[in-house]
Amino acid sequence: MSYTVQTLMNQGDLVKKLIEYAEGRLKLSDMISVDAERCEFRHPLQRMVALPAKALASVLRELESVIGPAYISVIIEGAKRYTREVELKQIGDYVSPENRMKVVSAMFRLYRELGWGKVFDVEFDEGKGVLRFRVENSVEADGWGSSEHPVCHIILGYNIALMEWALGKPMIGEEVRCKAKGDPYCEFVIRAAESGEDGGFS
Ligand SMILES: [Zn+2]
Repeated sequence: MSYTVQTLMNQGDLVKKLIEYAEGRLKLSDMISVDAERCEFRHPLQRMVALPAKALASVLRELESVIGPAYISVIIEGAKRYTREVELKQIGDYVSPENRMKVVSAMFRLYRELGWGKVFDVEFDEGKGVLRFRVENSVEADGWGSSEHPVCHIILGYNIALMEWALGKPMIGEEVRCKAKGDPYCEFVIRAAESGEDGGFS
């Protein structure tokens, strides 16, 4: 398999493909590609790598041990920046405002199916602009092990940035339950920032 076709795809076709995936008309296997010769693996917007969950957690724990609790905002802000400057930058101008939540759904489904965890009980209150979702087996929580604070900062930051783009306003988010803390699942709430609130991390 090669991803030649995918890299030649123009942004308009790429957005169309993401919307078809969000609507269930395409499968994960339609969205990823492997170039065995070059040893590369991609989803439509970025080259990927399968990283052991505990290797990721080991790096993040080391960061926490060096810089302390500030590591949380570093990770959340880094995840937000990646989402905005790498993924959304490629397609943002090609998505009509009414299709933005469809593209968010596609990215939501894509990362879920790539192993970030089983999402359930998704609630989106369009009027209030509040997204709430739960993750049964977050790879960040599983990799980290037990913790006194929530640990799924990449999932949180990524989804804050998606929602900011979809709704066109600053959002803040919090992981209100985390399996690493002993909760039965992780739960995230992302909502519009009120004036004076410094959006982005809990
Ligand atoms: Zn968690």
